[in-house]
Amino acid sequence: ELSGDLERARGLIREVPDFPEPGVLFRDISPVLADAEAFRAVVYGMVRQAPEFDLVLGVEARGFLLGAAVAYACGTGVVGVRKPGKLPAVAHRVDYTLEYGTATLELPEDTVRPGQRVLVVDDVLATGGTVLATCELARRAGAEVVGVAVALELSALGGRERLSDLPLQVVFTA
Ligand code: AMP
Repeated sequence: ELSGDLERARGLIREVPDFPEPGVLFRDISPVLADAEAFRAVVYGMVRQAPEFDLVLGVEARGFLLGAAVAYACGTGVVGVRKPGKLPAVAHRVDYTLEYGTATLELPEDTVRPGQRVLVVDDVLATGGTVLATCELARRAGAEVVGVAVALELSALGGRERLSDLPLQVVFTA
């Protein structure tokens, strides 16, 4: 029954050519999240084999939706890792390199505590830069990153290799 829901969820991922720039095939999971059974199947798929964790870090913006669901399902708290300029109080900031240019992520104050075991959640793993920057934010706050969970891994982009030995939970691969 769950695998039927997962199969349907796979079909609900929308592929948008040349977004946000020419040559990129964007995978939009919004239709998956809008479907009750597909949403639930994907959330449970992300945590089925995840290591034990105390806190979820979800990356803006679709990582907020999946991260909150994962945290609620597992009985943990959740923190939204933000793009710059959104937070009133920033605990840590990490700049990282994208394929073209740079990006920045920020961790809100008074969220991650030293020693907490963190699961990093996002919708898509591409080059891995976003997830690695989020791991760095957690570590700067004194937490231990115990794993990464994403709905979709784009395997040609090498994200898994850049995460090296960090446990990675993936529901779909493309
Ligand atoms: P990366 O840092 O290269 O792993 O990129 C991952 C981040 O960018 C995630 O937050 C994704 O939401 C987004 N992203 C990158 N490439 C894609 C893609 N082809 N389709 C959808 N989202 C993507």
